[in-house]
Amino acid sequence: MVEVVEAKGKHLEVMWDDGLVLNSHLKNKSEWHVYRKGAPWRRSWDTLRASIQTDDFVAVCFGAPTVETYRQNDRERHPGLGRLGPDLCRHDDNLVEAIDLMLSYPNRQARLRDVMVDQHVMQGVGNVYRCEVLWAAELSPWTHIADLTHHDAVLIVNTAAKMVRTNQGRIRRATTSHTSGGLAVYGRTGQGCIRCSETIESRPVGRQGRMLFWCPGCQVRLDRQLPTEIRHMDPHPAAVKYLNELPWRTREAG
Ligand SMILES: [Zn+2]
Repeated sequence: MVEVVEAKGKHLEVMWDDGLVLNSHLKNKSEWHVYRKGAPWRRSWDTLRASIQTDDFVAVCFGAPTVETYRQNDRERHPGLGRLGPDLCRHDDNLVEAIDLMLSYPNRQARLRDVMVDQHVMQGVGNVYRCEVLWAAELSPWTHIADLTHHDAVLIVNTAAKMVRTNQGRIRRATTSHTSGGLAVYGRTGQGCIRCSETIESRPVGRQGRMLFWCPGCQVRLDRQLPTEIRHMDPHPAAVKYLNELPWRTREAG
């Protein structure tokens, strides 16, 4: 899932939810075009440097002198730990190891939402699966790792592995058949939760400000650590009006 496209001087960065970054250096004759699938291109094949394809569109980078990919460095993730956790995409990797690494996480105050995307615990969980797994397990993203039970660690790792493996090779990822987009919470801010009808919320978290999506209605397990600024946040009047007029809210009131 492409989460952010950002221009930094002459560089254009495309960032995926799993931390992959595609950096293109744009000079005089370099440019990105977006075409519908099958539409004719306005520049020739031989200047193509990179392309990103989805079901309906293709984005093409022409003429860039340098195009490179790298993984985003995240200083929140303890780099001294060295070895990476098991890769959920590989069927022969040991999931029990991921469960142990999660339960013995060195920073006991770390939040579950951050530990889940730490590649030293397990590889393959990006921002989309982080949100979807937490929803599936009905767990609060603000849970401290110290409060996590063995049962929940097993649930998280198994659910994540199942989602990652089921979606391998698919262009459009899906974790549920009950929403049009195939995802339960990711990208559904302001819409109704399919489990409890509460309104899905989102907020940027971590150093990179990636959007976390969750349902405050049913993701309440191990929730006692939810920061007070969120509990007592005074919503903007326009937001309150918008939320109260949502169809499932008015149905409730009626
Ligand atoms: Zn819910």
